[in-house]
Amino acid sequence: MANRLVLKMSGEALASAASDETIDAATVDRIAREIAETRESLDLELAIVVGGGNIWRGATGAMAGMDRSTSDAMGMLGTVINALALQDALEQHNQPTRVLSALRMAEVAEPYIRRRAMRHLEKGRVIVFAAGMGNPYFTTDTAAALRAAEIEASLLLKGTHGGVDGVYSADPKVDPSAVKFDEVSFRKVVTEDLRVMDLTAITFCSDNSLPIRVFDVMAPRNLHRALAGEPVGTLVS
Ligand code: UDP
Repeated sequence: MANRLVLKMSGEALASAASDETIDAATVDRIAREIAETRESLDLELAIVVGGGNIWRGATGAMAGMDRSTSDAMGMLGTVINALALQDALEQHNQPTRVLSALRMAEVAEPYIRRRAMRHLEKGRVIVFAAGMGNPYFTTDTAAALRAAEIEASLLLKGTHGGVDGVYSADPKVDPSAVKFDEVSFRKVVTEDLRVMDLTAITFCSDNSLPIRVFDVMAPRNLHRALAGEPVGTLVS
């Protein structure tokens, strides 16, 4: 059976400091090319969960007094925009791709149906999970963990984009003595509050024995290396 992986990318990974655009075409193209080439050469089954933070985060609206569920719905819709951009870029690199949305929007994306998702993967299609889990009060990190468990992925790859290339003992941008871990346990991540993914996602992965590899998705070839199973970044297990 082909190796089945879930890649979580934040919405901000699709933006770029070099342009004012919410979605930077050159950045999306670079990521899509790397994914398409790697998937084909390694015969991977790959599902991607894309966030929406480049467009909207539910907490931002809630802090300004908006109804939380409405604000989160806006965030989920943002992830659909990103998913469609990624689908388009992947298909330009000849990688058949299906967007599966947790919110129904039949004109632009298929509804998420677990068995259909598995079938797409078996046929060599990349799937992009959009709209998180379809529920407010959650993040796409937790959606990625849930979907990875549902489709029986062997590993969750969490791509970072802020220049931090793994899990550190402290925030390396604040504390110069911070050291990077090659491997770290779920327990240590939780008890020492190490920044990996949100706590709901971490405890879900821990409960379900789903390992996470945290790596820098922006460094050239790093995505390829992570998908190929090389020990980039940090493995949480
Ligand atoms: N969101 C949600 N339920 C989900 C997933 C996401 O309500 O299952 C909303 C939430 O408001 C979140 C926004 O969508 O802030 C964008 O997702 P996220 O913050 O995870 O994006 P990222 O930071 O990864 O780009």
